[in-house]
Amino acid sequence: MMNPLSDLIETEFLPFVKTPLRYSGAEKNTIVKDHTGKTSIVLIYPDKYEIGMSYKGFHILYHILNKRDDIVCERAFIPEKDACDLLRQKKIPLFSLETRTPLSDFDFVGLTLPYELCFTNILEILELSGIPVWSKDRKGNKPLILGGGINAINPEPVADFFDMFLIGDGEEKLLDLIDNYKANSQKAKTRKALLKKMAEMESVYVPSLLNEKTHIVKAVAELKPENYTDSPIVPIMEITQDRMSVEIMRGCNRGCRFCQAGFYYRPLRERSIKDLVKQSSKMITGSGWREISLLSLSTSDYTNIEPLLENLYESCSKKGVKLSFPSMRAESFTQEIAVMASLGRKTTFTFAPEAGSERMRMIINKPIDISSIIEVMSIILKLGWKNIKLYYMIGLPFETNEDIIEMAEMINDIGRYSNSYGRIRINVSISPFNPKPHTPFQWAEQISLSLFKERIGILLSRLRNPNIHMSWRDPEVSILEAIFSRGDRDLSKVIYSAYKQGALFDAWNETFNFELWMKVFKEEGIDTTKYLSEKSIEEALPWDFIDIGVKKEFLISEWKKARNESLTPYCLKTCSKCGIERKFKCKELLAEKVKPSGMKQIMEKHSEPEVHNASPTPRADVRYRVKFKRLTSSRFISQRNLSAYIERELFIHDIPIAYSRGYHPLPIISFSHPLSFGFTSDCEFADMGFKDDYSGSIEQDMRKIFSNVMEFVSVKKLTGKFTPLMNFIDYNEYLVVIPDDAAEYFTEM
Ligand code: SF4
Repeated sequence: MMNPLSDLIETEFLPFVKTPLRYSGAEKNTIVKDHTGKTSIVLIYPDKYEIGMSYKGFHILYHILNKRDDIVCERAFIPEKDACDLLRQKKIPLFSLETRTPLSDFDFVGLTLPYELCFTNILEILELSGIPVWSKDRKGNKPLILGGGINAINPEPVADFFDMFLIGDGEEKLLDLIDNYKANSQKAKTRKALLKKMAEMESVYVPSLLNEKTHIVKAVAELKPENYTDSPIVPIMEITQDRMSVEIMRGCNRGCRFCQAGFYYRPLRERSIKDLVKQSSKMITGSGWREISLLSLSTSDYTNIEPLLENLYESCSKKGVKLSFPSMRAESFTQEIAVMASLGRKTTFTFAPEAGSERMRMIINKPIDISSIIEVMSIILKLGWKNIKLYYMIGLPFETNEDIIEMAEMINDIGRYSNSYGRIRINVSISPFNPKPHTPFQWAEQISLSLFKERIGILLSRLRNPNIHMSWRDPEVSILEAIFSRGDRDLSKVIYSAYKQGALFDAWNETFNFELWMKVFKEEGIDTTKYLSEKSIEEALPWDFIDIGVKKEFLISEWKKARNESLTPYCLKTCSKCGIERKFKCKELLAEKVKPSGMKQIMEKHSEPEVHNASPTPRADVRYRVKFKRLTSSRFISQRNLSAYIERELFIHDIPIAYSRGYHPLPIISFSHPLSFGFTSDCEFADMGFKDDYSGSIEQDMRKIFSNVMEFVSVKKLTGKFTPLMNFIDYNEYLVVIPDDAAEYFTEM
């Protein structure tokens, strides 16, 4: 099923790029289908593989689409700069990971828009695929370039590059869209006729048709269990979020006025404990990962958080699977959550007060006080956490220098409190505020570079605690983000021109070039103040034609309340009739309240910090030496990646590997001398230690473990005094085949 391009990729591309595993397709649980007779779609995340593979939405859509027999869904990412250059040099079009099919051969190229600074990456992806970047230049009925994701709620800056956008949750609408395509792609005589048919769908926006219908962001009412996979794709290389992600709810009931996700994902929809526990348990055996991240905008707000933790403790924690909580609110944080989080890796505990003064927290509608933060600190520091991260923003609407002085006092208070716990690291991370479409702050001004720097100076000069370490986001990046965030169609020519002049990977500090962007704005005659200054509520906004369900009048009233420093109660307390109630009964979308029953025992067992002076498992009682061959498909897997892979497979198959002792126990696996990178092999060895309760068939088990990535050859029990692997191998013998046409090169040498 591999494309004819595959050989070229294998010989001319993979051996010469920095991280071949990004492009080789060496992963667990990928779905490979024959394309014949199917509608094909390639989902693309416009950033590096390790970032894109950590994005949950991608996995949901991949799973839903591939469940249908008549659809084939594959993935691609923007290659790193070195790989982009090599693809051009070797004239290899950008290809999908599953079957190495050129992107231009798919019916749909589906691009997620996760943030504004990926726009030039999108143009690079199209160019590398040989697809005209301007939608007006494309011919025929395929591929259709489809955009989606949170930034599609103001698609105007990139509207000229896309054939269509699907607005809102993609789970069900994407299938409808593909059905619409199937019904019309043969009948439609022209691309325009086909796009017209697609535009008849409520949530589809076709920019080239310039129709002014309102595009409704339709959230799915229910987070159905069948839309989540039990067998997520597991990369063999490390990715940013190297763990299972389980979405426990979507949306947020708080109403922070700066938060685009909070408004975009309304209403709040919660999944049941039963579904979550079932999915988590299955994912453990489907992936081999030993950490579950409970995903949501505010995990501690989940209605049944304690009963959920109690259930996950039984089904996952007892098997050694850790829980992590990426997003927490101080107001709903409890001792129970802290204890459960402490059973995992105690890396960094993160909270986001966002604003430093009480007045500002009223303005942003996030009324937490310092005492609740201190209370949270006391819980987690007692449990042995050493790293705390606090997020703040500077440049929020109506902010003054006085508010920054109060922010410094708040941080100093937190620092002072931490002193009694010894050396605690408090990382304070500051971001410039960006006004976002479809939020009450969409009319606000973007803070200027000079004012941001002045306020950072005020803050820095007042911080007085050795535990506090401050960092801030580059305000120039933020300026560009703000321009695109509230941009219009005039910006497409700027994006194109900046891309042509070398702008790429703008979200990465090392490649971001602010001067280049400012030069291009000038060249294209665009005055950026139009996008950065405060807007009047009477002014028509470029994204007004998109209706996310929240009424504009509600956003206006929230904007006015912010000016008056007045709070809006959060949804669970009082419904403020934001507009969502026209389609949803919000209360009915929450999980039914359940009482926790076994939390007391868990708390009694774990309320003291764990003493890590010994591994819970013994040293290896029995050791085996495994001989294996490295195949073409696995020649780029490092020993570190192979070791992690084997560990996951052993866990999946419940084979009791032994662990080293100490703070960070590691599985007892060692390898013979590493071969040169990129070589296949006829003979390599790994020594593995097992606990004495291992009673399986070692040969069968090793065949299972190794068979997906390597070729298992044999296994031998090590008894008595055995030679360690490093001494067992004297040398490696390499066979290098020099092609005939390279003879000339060697003669010259
Ligand atoms: S309708 Fe009421 S409960 Fe529902 S999201 Fe809007 S404010 Fe919240």
